[in-house]
Amino acid sequence: MTQKPPTPALRVPLLDLKPQYEAIAPRVRAVIEAVCASQQFILGPEVRTLEARIAAYSQCRRGVGVSSGTDALLLALMALGIGPGDSVITSPYTFFATAGTIARTGARPLFCDIEPDTFNLSAQAVREFLEQQCERRGGALVHRASGTRVKALMPVHLYGQVCPMEPLLALARESGLRVIEDAAQAIGARDAGAHQAGSLGDIGCFSFFPTKNLGAFGDAGLCVTQDEALAEHMEVLRVHGGKPKYHHAFIGGNFRIDELQAAVLNVKLDYLDDWSRRRAENARIYDAAFARAALGPKVITPIALPGFHHIYNQYVIRARRRDELREHLAAAGVGTEIYYPIPLHLQQCFAYLGHAAGDFPESERAARETLALPIYPELSPAQLHYVVESIEAFYAGSAAPGRP
Ligand SMILES: *Cc1c(COP(=O)(O)O)cnc(C)c1O
Repeated sequence: MTQKPPTPALRVPLLDLKPQYEAIAPRVRAVIEAVCASQQFILGPEVRTLEARIAAYSQCRRGVGVSSGTDALLLALMALGIGPGDSVITSPYTFFATAGTIARTGARPLFCDIEPDTFNLSAQAVREFLEQQCERRGGALVHRASGTRVKALMPVHLYGQVCPMEPLLALARESGLRVIEDAAQAIGARDAGAHQAGSLGDIGCFSFFPTKNLGAFGDAGLCVTQDEALAEHMEVLRVHGGKPKYHHAFIGGNFRIDELQAAVLNVKLDYLDDWSRRRAENARIYDAAFARAALGPKVITPIALPGFHHIYNQYVIRARRRDELREHLAAAGVGTEIYYPIPLHLQQCFAYLGHAAGDFPESERAARETLALPIYPELSPAQLHYVVESIEAFYAGSAAPGRP
C-alpha cells in the first residue's frame, strides 16, 4: 500500500474573507437592506458619502467613485487627455491593468525598472530614461524611438507601500509630466512625510477589488484628486461624457460605482485602519520568526522604508527555489501566490513594444523569485508560525510538518 501524504497540521489559506464578513455581517446586511428598500442603485447618497469620506481619508479634496480600479486608471488617463501619439512611463512589475489601461487609451506604455528592495518604480531609472531616451521638441517631450509625446508618470504603490514620490514629482515638474498614482493596493499607506497614497499626484486611483485591504462585494474603485476641475471632468467622463445629459462634448464611458458597493464600503471603511494594523502586526510576527529561523539568503523578507506606513496588502518574500517551495507549501496546507510571474514588457500583447528578456533585470528577477504569503488580518500567530516552520522544513529538506 502506498503511504498517504501526511495531513497538514494546519490550513493557512492565502486569503479567507469569511471571518471578516462574520464580524460585520449585521451592519452590512442592514445597509444592503436599506439600498434595496430605496431602490436607488445609481450614484445615490451612499456614493456621495463614500466619495467624500475617501477623499478626506486620503488627504484629497475630491473623490470620484468608479466601477473598478482598472476603470479608475482608465478614467484618470482619459481625464488628463492622454491618447494616441502619447506615452506614459510606468513599472513593468505590476498588475496588468497599470499598463493595460495606458495601451487602451491608444497611448504607449514606456517601462522603467524597479528598485529591488521595495519592488517599486525606480526614480533613478526614470531619470536615466528621460535623459537618454527622450528629448525636447518644441514644447513637447518626445520618446525618440517611438516618436510619442511623453505625458505622464504612473508609479504603483506595490503591495501596500508608497513608492517614494518626491524624486518622481521633481522629475515630473522638470519635464512637465502629469502624475497618476496607481494606489490600487495602498489605500491608507503613507510615506515618511505622512502623505497618504493617492494624495501627491494629479490623480490617485484606488481599487476595492475584494482582495484589497478595503474590498467591496464585487468590483469597485475610486479616483481622488486635489483639483476640482479634474474631479468635475472625471464625473462627466464617468457618465459617457454627457453634460448636460445627452449633450456630449467628450466621449466617456460607463465608469459608475454601484450604490450597493458604496454602501458596503462605507461600513467597511470604519474598520480599514484596524485591519491594516493587524496586517502590519502579522508582518512583524513573520519578520521576527524569519529572523529567528535565519534562512537568509535563501529567504529575504520584505522591507518597509524608514518612517513609511506600509499597509501590507501583500507580504512578499524572495525565495530560493521559489516554485518548489510553493509546491511544498501547498502540500503543507499553506496558500501562496506569485505576483507577478511575467513582467509586463514580456507579455505577448506588448510584443509590439519590442522588448526582450534582459531589458528590465530587476523586474524579471522579482518575477522569478517572489512569493506572497498569507497576511490577512484574522490569521492567528499559530498559523503564521506554521507558515514559517513549513518554509524552514523545506530548506532543511524534511517533509512538511504534519500529523504522523
Ligand atoms: C487590483 C489592481 C488594479 C486593478 O483594480 P481592479 O479593481 O481589479 O480593476 C490595478 N493596479 C494594481 C496595482 C492592482 O493591484
